[in-house]
Amino acid sequence: WGRCRAACPTPASPRSRRGVGRGAGLALLGLVPGAPSCPHGPTLLFVKTSQGREAGRRFYACSACRDRKDCSFFQWEDEKVSGTRLAAREECNRNHQPSFTHRQNVERYKNFVLLPLSKRRFCQECQQLLLPAEWEKHLDHQFLSDISTAQLKSPSQLLHPLENKKTNAQYLFADRSCQFLLDLIVDLGFRQVLSVGTPRLHEMIQSKASQEEDFRVRSLLLDIDFRYSQFYTEDEFCHYNMFNHYFFGGEAAHEKCRKFLYQDNGERVIMVTDPPFGGLVEALASSFKKLMAMWKETAKEGHNNEEMPMFWIFPYFFESRILEFFPSFSMMDYQVDYDNHALYKHGKTGRRQSPVRIFTNLTPSMIVLPVEEGYRFCTICQRYVSSGNQHCEICNSCTSKDGRRWKHCVLCKKCVKPSWFHCSSCNCCALQNHTCGKADAGCFVCGKAGHKRSTCPSLSRT
Ligand code: SAH
Ligand code: ZN
Ligand code: ZN
Ligand code: ZN
Ligand code: ZN
Repeated sequence: WGRCRAACPTPASPRSRRGVGRGAGLALLGLVPGAPSCPHGPTLLFVKTSQGREAGRRFYACSACRDRKDCSFFQWEDEKVSGTRLAAREECNRNHQPSFTHRQNVERYKNFVLLPLSKRRFCQECQQLLLPAEWEKHLDHQFLSDISTAQLKSPSQLLHPLENKKTNAQYLFADRSCQFLLDLIVDLGFRQVLSVGTPRLHEMIQSKASQEEDFRVRSLLLDIDFRYSQFYTEDEFCHYNMFNHYFFGGEAAHEKCRKFLYQDNGERVIMVTDPPFGGLVEALASSFKKLMAMWKETAKEGHNNEEMPMFWIFPYFFESRILEFFPSFSMMDYQVDYDNHALYKHGKTGRRQSPVRIFTNLTPSMIVLPVEEGYRFCTICQRYVSSGNQHCEICNSCTSKDGRRWKHCVLCKKCVKPSWFHCSSCNCCALQNHTCGKADAGCFVCGKAGHKRSTCPSLSRT
Protein backbone atom coordinates (compact mmCIF):
# COMPACT_ATOMS: atom_id res chain seq x y z
CA TRP A 1 0.00 0.00 0.00
CA GLY A 2 1.08 3.49 -0.73
CA ARG A 3 1.23 5.85 2.20
CA CYS A 4 -1.76 7.91 2.94
CA ARG A 5 -0.92 11.53 2.27
CA ALA A 6 -2.35 14.77 3.47
CA ALA A 7 -5.26 14.34 1.13
CA CYS A 8 -6.80 11.75 3.38
CA PRO A 9 -9.79 13.29 5.11
CA THR A 10 -9.38 13.51 8.84
CA PRO A 11 -11.86 11.30 10.59
CA ALA A 12 -14.86 13.24 11.79
CA SER A 13 -14.97 11.44 15.09
CA PRO A 14 -11.94 11.06 17.32
CA ARG A 15 -13.54 8.19 19.18
CA SER A 16 -11.98 4.83 18.82
CA ARG A 17 -14.15 2.20 17.23
CA ARG A 18 -13.42 -0.04 20.12
CA GLY A 19 -13.33 2.22 23.10
CA VAL A 20 -16.48 0.78 24.50
CA GLY A 21 -17.34 0.21 28.10
CA ARG A 22 -18.81 -2.70 30.00
CA GLY A 23 -22.06 -4.08 28.71
CA ALA A 24 -21.48 -1.98 25.64
CA GLY A 25 -20.36 -3.15 22.28
CA LEU A 26 -20.32 -2.59 18.65
CA ALA A 27 -22.81 -4.19 16.34
CA LEU A 28 -22.26 -4.75 12.69
CA LEU A 29 -25.27 -3.84 10.60
CA GLY A 30 -23.49 -4.97 7.47
CA LEU A 31 -22.88 -4.08 3.90
CA VAL A 32 -25.63 -1.75 2.77
CA PRO A 33 -26.38 -0.49 -0.73
CA GLY A 34 -24.87 2.90 -1.40
CA ALA A 35 -22.26 2.66 1.34
CA PRO A 36 -19.23 4.90 0.78
CA SER A 37 -15.93 3.29 -0.15
CA CYS A 38 -12.52 3.41 1.50
CA PRO A 39 -9.34 2.05 -0.11
CA HIS A 40 -10.54 -1.44 0.90
CA GLY A 41 -13.83 -1.28 -0.98
CA PRO A 42 -17.31 -0.56 0.33
CA THR A 43 -17.39 0.21 4.04
CA LEU A 44 -19.62 -1.51 6.57
CA LEU A 45 -22.31 0.04 8.71
CA PHE A 46 -21.80 -0.20 12.47
CA VAL A 47 -23.60 1.00 15.54
CA LYS A 48 -22.64 1.23 19.18
CA THR A 49 -24.75 -0.85 21.46
CA SER A 50 -25.51 -0.84 25.12
CA GLN A 51 -27.16 -3.80 26.84
CA GLY A 52 -27.69 -5.33 23.44
CA ARG A 53 -29.55 -2.36 22.04
CA GLU A 54 -28.55 0.25 19.54
CA ALA A 55 -27.19 3.22 21.42
CA GLY A 56 -25.96 5.98 19.24
CA ARG A 57 -25.50 7.14 15.74
CA ARG A 58 -24.75 4.64 13.06
CA PHE A 59 -21.53 5.01 11.16
CA TYR A 60 -19.56 3.58 8.28
CA ALA A 61 -16.07 2.23 8.83
CA CYS A 62 -13.54 0.11 6.99
CA SER A 63 -14.48 -3.53 6.60
CA ALA A 64 -10.93 -4.84 6.65
CA CYS A 65 -9.12 -2.75 9.24
CA ARG A 66 -10.22 -2.84 12.82
CA ASP A 67 -7.75 -0.19 13.81
CA ARG A 68 -8.26 3.41 12.77
CA LYS A 69 -4.52 3.70 12.38
CA ASP A 70 -4.67 1.34 9.42
CA CYS A 71 -7.63 2.89 7.71
CA SER A 72 -8.96 6.13 9.03
CA PHE A 73 -12.20 6.07 7.11
CA PHE A 74 -15.12 7.25 9.20
CA GLN A 75 -18.51 8.62 8.25
CA TRP A 76 -21.75 8.99 10.15
CA GLU A 77 -24.63 7.36 8.36
CA ASP A 78 -26.64 10.58 8.28
CA GLU A 79 -23.67 12.83 7.63
CA LYS A 80 -23.70 15.20 4.72
CA VAL A 81 -20.33 14.93 2.97
CA SER A 82 -19.16 17.99 1.10
CA GLY A 83 -17.88 17.88 -2.45
CA THR A 84 -14.40 18.83 -1.33
CA ARG A 85 -14.29 16.05 1.18
CA LEU A 86 -15.57 13.55 -1.38
CA ALA A 87 -12.85 14.62 -3.79
CA ALA A 88 -10.22 14.35 -1.06
CA ARG A 89 -11.49 10.92 -0.19
CA GLU A 90 -11.30 9.79 -3.78
CA GLU A 91 -7.76 11.02 -4.00
CA CYS A 92 -6.93 9.20 -0.79
CA ASN A 93 -8.40 6.00 -2.20
CA ARG A 94 -6.27 6.45 -5.31
CA ASN A 95 -3.14 7.12 -3.28
CA HIS A 96 -3.69 3.89 -1.46
CA GLN A 97 -3.54 1.85 -4.61
CA PRO A 98 -0.41 -0.26 -4.92
CA SER A 99 2.34 1.25 -7.04
CA PHE A 100 2.19 -1.53 -9.61
CA THR A 101 -0.92 -3.16 -10.98
CA HIS A 102 -1.27 -6.93 -10.94
CA ARG A 103 -0.72 -6.94 -14.70
CA GLN A 104 2.51 -4.98 -14.30
CA ASN A 105 3.64 -7.33 -11.58
CA VAL A 106 3.06 -10.31 -13.84
CA GLU A 107 5.22 -8.68 -16.52
CA ARG A 108 7.90 -7.86 -13.97
CA TYR A 109 7.93 -11.47 -12.81
CA LYS A 110 8.43 -12.68 -16.38
CA ASN A 111 11.47 -10.45 -16.65
CA PHE A 112 12.70 -11.37 -13.22
CA VAL A 113 12.89 -15.10 -13.94
CA LEU A 114 14.96 -14.40 -17.05
CA LEU A 115 17.67 -12.83 -14.91
CA PRO A 116 20.71 -14.81 -13.85
CA LEU A 117 20.64 -15.76 -10.19
CA SER A 118 23.19 -13.11 -9.31
CA LYS A 119 20.84 -10.39 -10.45
CA ARG A 120 17.75 -11.55 -8.68
CA ARG A 121 17.12 -9.33 -5.70
CA PHE A 122 14.26 -9.02 -3.31
CA CYS A 123 13.92 -5.84 -1.29
CA GLN A 124 12.97 -6.79 2.24
CA GLU A 125 11.88 -3.32 3.15
CA CYS A 126 9.58 -2.83 0.18
CA GLN A 127 8.72 -6.55 0.04
CA GLN A 128 9.27 -6.42 -3.67
CA LEU A 129 11.18 -8.27 -6.36
CA LEU A 130 13.63 -5.81 -7.91
CA LEU A 131 14.66 -5.49 -11.51
CA PRO A 132 18.25 -4.26 -12.03
CA ALA A 133 17.07 -0.84 -13.20
CA GLU A 134 15.39 -0.34 -9.83
CA TRP A 135 18.34 -1.28 -7.62
CA GLU A 136 19.45 2.28 -7.29
CA LYS A 137 16.23 3.33 -5.60
CA HIS A 138 16.62 0.65 -2.94
CA LEU A 139 20.33 0.97 -2.23
CA ASP A 140 19.91 1.73 1.43
CA HIS A 141 17.32 -1.01 1.89
CA GLN A 142 18.03 -4.51 3.11
CA PHE A 143 17.69 -7.02 0.33
CA LEU A 144 18.08 -10.70 -0.35
CA SER A 145 20.02 -11.78 -3.40
CA ASP A 146 20.28 -14.92 -5.51
CA ILE A 147 16.55 -15.52 -5.29
CA SER A 148 16.11 -19.09 -6.46
CA THR A 149 13.22 -20.65 -8.32
CA ALA A 150 12.41 -22.56 -5.16
CA GLN A 151 12.13 -19.28 -3.26
CA LEU A 152 9.87 -17.84 -5.92
CA LYS A 153 7.67 -20.88 -5.51
CA SER A 154 7.24 -20.31 -1.79
CA PRO A 155 6.42 -16.63 -1.49
CA SER A 156 4.93 -17.17 1.97
CA GLN A 157 8.48 -17.84 3.18
CA LEU A 158 10.03 -15.00 1.26
CA LEU A 159 7.51 -12.37 2.33
CA HIS A 160 7.50 -11.61 6.01
CA PRO A 161 4.15 -12.41 7.58
CA LEU A 162 2.08 -9.30 8.14
CA GLU A 163 2.06 -8.68 11.84
CA ASN A 164 -0.61 -6.14 12.46
CA LYS A 165 -2.42 -7.80 15.29
CA LYS A 166 -5.77 -6.21 14.78
CA THR A 167 -6.05 -5.93 11.06
CA ASN A 168 -4.08 -8.43 9.19
CA ALA A 169 -1.96 -10.81 11.15
CA GLN A 170 -0.85 -13.72 9.03
CA TYR A 171 -0.60 -17.03 10.74
CA LEU A 172 0.92 -19.55 8.42
CA PHE A 173 0.04 -23.24 8.57
CA ALA A 174 2.65 -25.53 9.96
CA ASP A 175 3.79 -27.86 7.23
CA ARG A 176 2.13 -30.83 8.92
CA SER A 177 -1.29 -29.15 8.98
CA CYS A 178 -0.96 -27.86 5.45
CA GLN A 179 0.00 -31.31 4.19
CA PHE A 180 -2.89 -32.84 6.09
CA LEU A 181 -5.36 -30.42 4.49
CA LEU A 182 -4.06 -31.06 1.03
CA ASP A 183 -4.07 -34.86 1.44
CA LEU A 184 -7.62 -34.63 2.71
CA ILE A 185 -8.68 -32.53 -0.27
CA VAL A 186 -7.04 -34.97 -2.69
CA ASP A 187 -8.51 -38.03 -0.97
CA LEU A 188 -11.96 -36.51 -1.11
CA GLY A 189 -11.56 -36.15 -4.87
CA PHE A 190 -11.54 -32.38 -5.18
CA ARG A 191 -9.81 -30.78 -8.14
CA GLN A 192 -10.37 -27.08 -7.69
CA VAL A 193 -9.48 -25.31 -4.46
CA LEU A 194 -10.70 -21.79 -3.88
CA SER A 195 -8.10 -20.65 -1.36
CA VAL A 196 -9.52 -17.67 0.51
CA GLY A 197 -6.84 -16.26 2.79
CA THR A 198 -4.78 -19.45 2.64
CA PRO A 199 -1.61 -18.48 0.75
CA ARG A 200 0.40 -21.35 2.12
CA LEU A 201 -2.09 -23.99 1.02
CA HIS A 202 -2.26 -22.31 -2.37
CA GLU A 203 1.48 -22.35 -2.63
CA MET A 204 1.70 -26.03 -1.74
CA ILE A 205 -0.83 -26.86 -4.44
CA GLN A 206 0.90 -24.66 -7.01
CA SER A 207 4.29 -26.14 -6.45
CA LYS A 208 3.00 -29.72 -6.49
CA ALA A 209 1.16 -29.01 -9.72
CA SER A 210 4.33 -27.69 -11.32
CA GLN A 211 6.42 -30.63 -10.15
CA GLU A 212 4.17 -33.66 -10.45
CA GLU A 213 2.60 -34.40 -13.76
CA ASP A 214 -0.26 -36.48 -12.45
CA PHE A 215 -1.21 -33.99 -9.76
CA ARG A 216 -4.45 -32.50 -11.02
CA VAL A 217 -5.48 -30.12 -8.26
CA ARG A 218 -5.63 -26.42 -9.08
CA SER A 219 -5.95 -23.47 -6.75
CA LEU A 220 -7.05 -19.85 -6.99
CA LEU A 221 -5.89 -17.61 -4.15
CA LEU A 222 -8.17 -14.81 -2.98
CA ASP A 223 -6.37 -12.61 -0.48
CA ILE A 224 -6.07 -8.99 0.56
CA ASP A 225 -2.29 -9.22 0.65
CA PHE A 226 -1.37 -7.69 -2.67
CA ARG A 227 2.29 -8.68 -2.33
CA TYR A 228 1.24 -12.07 -3.71
CA SER A 229 0.44 -10.52 -7.08
CA GLN A 230 4.18 -10.45 -7.71
CA PHE A 231 4.29 -14.23 -7.83
CA TYR A 232 1.00 -15.29 -9.37
CA THR A 233 -0.85 -14.57 -12.58
CA GLU A 234 -4.39 -13.26 -12.75
CA ASP A 235 -5.56 -16.85 -13.12
CA GLU A 236 -3.89 -17.78 -9.85
CA PHE A 237 -4.49 -14.82 -7.57
CA CYS A 238 -7.23 -12.26 -7.05
CA HIS A 239 -6.79 -9.29 -4.75
CA TYR A 240 -9.89 -9.75 -2.62
CA ASN A 241 -11.41 -8.48 0.60
CA MET A 242 -13.32 -11.23 2.36
CA PHE A 243 -15.13 -8.87 4.73
CA ASN A 244 -17.08 -7.16 1.97
CA HIS A 245 -16.69 -9.59 -0.94
CA TYR A 246 -14.79 -6.97 -2.86
CA PHE A 247 -12.60 -7.77 -5.86
CA PHE A 248 -10.02 -4.99 -6.16
CA GLY A 249 -9.46 -5.98 -9.79
CA GLY A 250 -13.07 -5.19 -10.65
CA GLU A 251 -15.30 -7.19 -12.97
CA ALA A 252 -12.33 -8.83 -14.75
CA ALA A 253 -11.08 -10.36 -11.50
CA HIS A 254 -14.59 -11.33 -10.52
CA GLU A 255 -14.89 -13.12 -13.83
CA LYS A 256 -11.60 -14.99 -13.25
CA CYS A 257 -13.03 -16.31 -10.03
CA ARG A 258 -16.31 -17.27 -11.66
CA LYS A 259 -14.42 -19.06 -14.41
CA PHE A 260 -12.35 -20.96 -11.91
CA LEU A 261 -15.50 -22.20 -10.20
CA TYR A 262 -16.94 -23.10 -13.60
CA GLN A 263 -14.31 -25.66 -14.50
CA ASP A 264 -15.52 -29.24 -14.31
CA ASN A 265 -19.01 -27.79 -14.18
CA GLY A 266 -18.21 -26.83 -10.60
CA GLU A 267 -18.33 -30.41 -9.55
CA ARG A 268 -15.12 -30.92 -7.70
CA VAL A 269 -14.67 -27.52 -6.15
CA ILE A 270 -13.95 -26.89 -2.49
CA MET A 271 -13.40 -23.60 -0.78
CA VAL A 272 -10.86 -23.41 2.02
CA THR A 273 -10.62 -20.31 4.16
CA ASP A 274 -8.63 -19.27 7.22
CA PRO A 275 -9.75 -15.73 8.03
CA PRO A 276 -8.36 -13.41 10.69
CA PHE A 277 -9.98 -14.29 14.02
CA GLY A 278 -10.97 -10.84 15.14
CA GLY A 279 -14.70 -11.19 15.03
CA LEU A 280 -16.99 -9.91 12.28
CA VAL A 281 -18.16 -13.46 11.69
CA GLU A 282 -21.34 -12.13 10.12
CA ALA A 283 -19.36 -10.15 7.55
CA LEU A 284 -17.33 -13.22 6.65
CA ALA A 285 -20.43 -15.38 6.48
CA SER A 286 -22.14 -12.98 4.13
CA SER A 287 -19.13 -12.93 1.78
CA PHE A 288 -18.83 -16.70 1.86
CA LYS A 289 -22.51 -16.99 1.02
CA LYS A 290 -21.85 -14.82 -2.01
CA LEU A 291 -18.98 -17.05 -3.08
CA MET A 292 -21.24 -20.06 -2.57
CA ALA A 293 -23.89 -18.39 -4.71
CA MET A 294 -21.31 -17.77 -7.43
CA TRP A 295 -20.51 -21.46 -7.41
CA LYS A 296 -24.18 -22.39 -7.53
CA GLU A 297 -24.70 -20.31 -10.64
CA THR A 298 -21.92 -22.18 -12.41
CA ALA A 299 -23.64 -25.49 -12.85
CA LYS A 300 -25.74 -25.92 -15.94
CA GLU A 301 -28.16 -28.25 -14.22
CA GLY A 302 -27.91 -26.37 -10.97
CA HIS A 303 -26.50 -28.03 -7.91
CA ASN A 304 -29.94 -28.93 -6.58
CA ASN A 305 -29.91 -28.09 -2.95
CA GLU A 306 -26.24 -28.62 -2.52
CA GLU A 307 -23.83 -26.11 -1.05
CA MET A 308 -20.33 -25.55 -2.31
CA PRO A 309 -18.14 -27.74 -0.10
CA MET A 310 -16.16 -25.66 2.32
CA PHE A 311 -13.53 -25.83 5.03
CA TRP A 312 -13.70 -22.79 7.26
CA ILE A 313 -10.73 -22.81 9.60
CA PHE A 314 -11.49 -20.95 12.82
CA PRO A 315 -11.18 -21.27 16.62
CA TYR A 316 -13.60 -23.64 18.34
CA PHE A 317 -15.05 -20.88 20.52
CA PHE A 318 -16.70 -19.44 17.43
CA GLU A 319 -18.65 -22.65 16.87
CA SER A 320 -22.05 -21.27 17.79
CA ARG A 321 -21.47 -18.12 15.73
CA ILE A 322 -20.57 -20.10 12.63
CA LEU A 323 -23.48 -22.51 13.04
CA GLU A 324 -25.80 -19.54 13.35
CA PHE A 325 -24.95 -18.59 9.78
CA PHE A 326 -24.22 -22.06 8.42
CA PRO A 327 -26.46 -24.58 10.16
CA SER A 328 -25.22 -27.33 7.86
CA PHE A 329 -21.68 -27.05 9.20
CA SER A 330 -20.04 -29.17 11.84
CA MET A 331 -16.83 -28.73 13.70
CA MET A 332 -14.06 -31.28 13.33
CA ASP A 333 -11.70 -32.12 16.19
CA TYR A 334 -8.55 -31.71 14.11
CA GLN A 335 -6.22 -29.12 15.65
CA VAL A 336 -4.78 -26.82 13.01
CA ASP A 337 -1.24 -25.74 13.82
CA TYR A 338 0.70 -22.69 12.79
CA ASP A 339 4.36 -21.95 12.26
CA ASN A 340 4.53 -18.46 13.60
CA HIS A 341 2.12 -18.63 16.46
CA ALA A 342 3.36 -19.24 19.98
CA LEU A 343 0.11 -20.67 21.26
CA TYR A 344 -1.10 -22.64 18.32
CA LYS A 345 1.51 -25.35 18.22
CA HIS A 346 0.52 -28.94 18.44
CA GLY A 347 -0.06 -30.37 21.92
CA LYS A 348 2.55 -33.07 21.56
CA THR A 349 5.37 -30.77 20.56
CA GLY A 350 4.35 -27.28 21.55
CA ARG A 351 3.31 -25.80 24.83
CA ARG A 352 -0.37 -25.52 24.28
CA GLN A 353 -2.97 -27.09 22.10
CA SER A 354 -4.25 -25.12 19.19
CA PRO A 355 -7.85 -23.91 19.53
CA VAL A 356 -8.22 -23.76 15.74
CA ARG A 357 -10.52 -26.24 14.04
CA ILE A 358 -12.03 -27.08 10.68
CA PHE A 359 -15.71 -26.29 10.15
CA THR A 360 -17.25 -28.04 7.20
CA ASN A 361 -20.49 -28.80 5.43
CA LEU A 362 -19.17 -32.17 4.25
CA THR A 363 -20.40 -35.30 6.02
CA PRO A 364 -18.24 -35.54 9.16
CA SER A 365 -17.53 -39.25 8.70
CA MET A 366 -15.72 -38.40 5.46
CA ILE A 367 -13.16 -36.28 7.25
CA VAL A 368 -10.58 -38.86 8.21
CA LEU A 369 -8.23 -37.58 10.91
CA PRO A 370 -4.72 -39.00 11.40
CA VAL A 371 -4.80 -41.98 13.74
CA GLU A 372 -1.05 -41.60 14.33
CA GLU A 373 -1.82 -38.28 16.01
CA GLY A 374 -4.28 -39.95 18.34
CA TYR A 375 -7.56 -39.23 16.59
CA ARG A 376 -10.04 -42.11 16.59
CA PHE A 377 -13.38 -42.80 15.01
CA CYS A 378 -16.45 -42.68 17.24
CA THR A 379 -18.96 -45.07 15.68
CA ILE A 380 -21.88 -43.51 17.52
CA CYS A 381 -21.04 -39.91 16.55
CA GLN A 382 -19.88 -41.07 13.12
CA ARG A 383 -16.87 -38.79 13.12
CA TYR A 384 -13.23 -38.74 14.10
CA VAL A 385 -12.53 -37.24 17.49
CA SER A 386 -9.40 -36.32 19.41
CA SER A 387 -7.88 -38.86 21.78
CA GLY A 388 -9.05 -37.09 24.93
CA ASN A 389 -12.60 -36.67 23.68
CA GLN A 390 -14.70 -39.29 25.46
CA HIS A 391 -18.13 -40.26 24.28
CA CYS A 392 -20.56 -39.12 26.98
CA GLU A 393 -23.37 -41.65 27.51
CA ILE A 394 -25.74 -39.05 28.86
CA CYS A 395 -25.21 -36.41 26.15
CA ASN A 396 -24.83 -39.25 23.67
CA SER A 397 -22.05 -37.37 21.98
CA CYS A 398 -18.32 -36.77 22.10
CA THR A 399 -18.58 -33.44 23.83
CA SER A 400 -15.08 -32.05 24.29
CA LYS A 401 -14.35 -28.94 22.30
CA ASP A 402 -10.77 -28.32 23.30
CA GLY A 403 -9.35 -31.84 23.15
CA ARG A 404 -9.27 -32.35 26.90
CA ARG A 405 -11.61 -34.82 28.55
CA TRP A 406 -14.76 -32.99 29.63
CA LYS A 407 -17.05 -34.09 32.45
CA HIS A 408 -20.77 -34.30 32.63
CA CYS A 409 -22.65 -32.12 35.09
CA VAL A 410 -26.04 -33.60 35.93
CA LEU A 411 -27.33 -30.26 37.20
CA CYS A 412 -26.35 -28.35 34.06
CA LYS A 413 -27.38 -31.35 31.99
CA LYS A 414 -24.33 -31.02 29.79
CA CYS A 415 -20.63 -31.67 29.66
CA VAL A 416 -18.32 -28.93 30.87
CA LYS A 417 -14.60 -28.19 30.91
CA PRO A 418 -12.58 -30.33 33.34
CA SER A 419 -11.56 -27.23 35.30
CA TRP A 420 -15.14 -26.20 36.04
CA PHE A 421 -17.29 -26.95 39.07
CA HIS A 422 -20.96 -26.56 39.65
CA CYS A 423 -21.68 -23.41 41.61
CA SER A 424 -24.98 -23.59 43.44
CA SER A 425 -25.40 -19.84 43.81
CA CYS A 426 -24.82 -19.18 40.09
CA ASN A 427 -26.73 -22.31 39.24
CA CYS A 428 -24.25 -23.26 36.58
CA CYS A 429 -20.75 -24.57 36.16
CA ALA A 430 -17.82 -22.15 36.32
CA LEU A 431 -14.21 -21.88 37.34
CA GLN A 432 -13.63 -22.44 41.05
CA ASN A 433 -12.41 -18.89 41.62
CA HIS A 434 -15.11 -17.07 39.71
CA THR A 435 -16.98 -14.13 41.16
CA CYS A 436 -20.56 -15.19 41.76
CA GLY A 437 -23.26 -13.34 39.91
CA LYS A 438 -21.04 -12.21 37.13
CA ALA A 439 -21.98 -14.67 34.44
CA ASP A 440 -19.33 -12.71 32.81
CA ALA A 441 -18.95 -11.00 29.52
CA GLY A 442 -15.57 -12.50 28.84
CA CYS A 443 -13.28 -11.82 25.97
CA PHE A 444 -15.14 -11.78 22.70
CA VAL A 445 -12.51 -13.88 21.00
CA CYS A 446 -11.75 -16.69 23.44
CA GLY A 447 -14.58 -16.28 25.94
CA LYS A 448 -12.21 -16.10 28.89
CA ALA A 449 -12.56 -13.47 31.58
CA GLY A 450 -9.93 -10.96 32.53
CA HIS A 451 -9.16 -9.34 29.23
CA LYS A 452 -10.85 -7.83 26.22
CA ARG A 453 -10.73 -8.85 22.61
CA SER A 454 -7.99 -6.35 21.81
CA THR A 455 -5.56 -7.92 24.26
CA CYS A 456 -6.62 -11.53 23.82
CA PRO A 457 -3.53 -13.73 24.24
CA SER A 458 -4.86 -16.14 21.67
CA LEU A 459 -4.34 -13.43 19.06
CA SER A 460 -0.75 -12.72 19.98
CA ARG A 461 2.19 -14.14 18.15
CA THR A 462 5.73 -15.28 18.68
N1 SAH B 1 -3.03 -20.22 7.59
C1 SAH B 1 -3.08 -19.55 6.31
C2 SAH B 1 -2.95 -18.07 6.47
C3 SAH B 1 -4.03 -17.49 7.37
S1 SAH B 1 -3.66 -15.87 7.92
C4 SAH B 1 -1.98 -20.13 5.43
O1 SAH B 1 -0.97 -20.56 5.97
O2 SAH B 1 -2.13 -20.18 4.22
C5 SAH B 1 -5.02 -14.96 7.25
C6 SAH B 1 -4.93 -14.70 5.78
O3 SAH B 1 -6.04 -13.91 5.41
C7 SAH B 1 -3.70 -13.91 5.37
O4 SAH B 1 -3.15 -14.45 4.19
C8 SAH B 1 -4.21 -12.51 5.14
O5 SAH B 1 -3.48 -11.79 4.16
C9 SAH B 1 -5.62 -12.79 4.68
N2 SAH B 1 -6.54 -11.69 4.97
C10 SAH B 1 -6.58 -10.90 6.07
N3 SAH B 1 -7.58 -10.01 5.96
C11 SAH B 1 -8.19 -10.25 4.78
C12 SAH B 1 -9.28 -9.67 4.09
N4 SAH B 1 -9.95 -8.65 4.62
N5 SAH B 1 -9.63 -10.19 2.91
C13 SAH B 1 -8.95 -11.20 2.35
N6 SAH B 1 -7.90 -11.80 2.95
C14 SAH B 1 -7.53 -11.33 4.15
ZN1 ZN C 1 13.26 -1.10 -1.17
ZN1 ZN D 1 -19.04 -40.07 20.31
ZN1 ZN E 1 -23.00 -27.67 36.37
ZN1 ZN F 1 -20.96 -18.83 41.47
